[in-house]
Amino acid sequence: MKTPPQIIDTHCHLDIAVFSDHLQKIIDNSRSLGVSDFVLPGYIASGWNNLLKLCSEYHFLHAAPGLHPIYLHHHHKDDLERLEAICHEKKVVAIGEIGLDLLRDKNNEPEQRKLFEAQICLAKKFSLPILIHVRKAHDQVASIIRKKKFEGGGIIHAFNGSKQQAENYIKLGFKLGYGGTLTYSRANRIRSLATSLPLSSIVLETDAPDIPLATRQDSINSPEYLPEVLTALAGLRSETVEEIAAQTTMNAQSVLSLQ
Ligand code: ZN
Repeated sequence: MKTPPQIIDTHCHLDIAVFSDHLQKIIDNSRSLGVSDFVLPGYIASGWNNLLKLCSEYHFLHAAPGLHPIYLHHHHKDDLERLEAICHEKKVVAIGEIGLDLLRDKNNEPEQRKLFEAQICLAKKFSLPILIHVRKAHDQVASIIRKKKFEGGGIIHAFNGSKQQAENYIKLGFKLGYGGTLTYSRANRIRSLATSLPLSSIVLETDAPDIPLATRQDSINSPEYLPEVLTALAGLRSETVEEIAAQTTMNAQSVLSLQ
């Protein structure tokens, strides 16, 4: 059998409980389908120990601990100090997922900003890239990155903004993450942008267990389905599956300094 092209899942939550019973099987299956590396973002401080422990068990799992904006009310005031204390850990490749979510709650924007900015400062201090979660706040996020003079780059996870916003992020050194949404024919804007953006700015992701593929809406999403995201993207673009796999892998490796 032909070896599948190697790709990287730049955003999957393999550390969460829903995967724990079948984790080894999911990892083995994904790897045999070509998924060489997995980046696991954090979301709350109480999950970081488990995240780091899991990543320490496999050379191809990489950790991105951070404080997610939608869990604002779960965060404690000493969490930032705890984050600072683990930033130097060998398996930490980025801080994530951090950002602004103004779709769920606009009222706490000032608190979300404060948390986001503090984590950008940490990323600067430790020379780490950042994995960003953004809903209805692309312009605000880009202006915060500029204001903080953050040049470490990173990934805008599940990018759903406009062409202009994509170009702004690319100028700031960011890659745009594309996943299962590409498989939905009604996702016109996302699909047309994914077709026209330079391939050098795209990375692949599943966001497993969230954002199931159009053909798999009844099952929990899994990095095993990342090759189907690759196929969907290749169906929209002029490059071959192999070219897209190679370039998106290189993009992920360079922005996250993966070995
Ligand atoms: Zn996520």
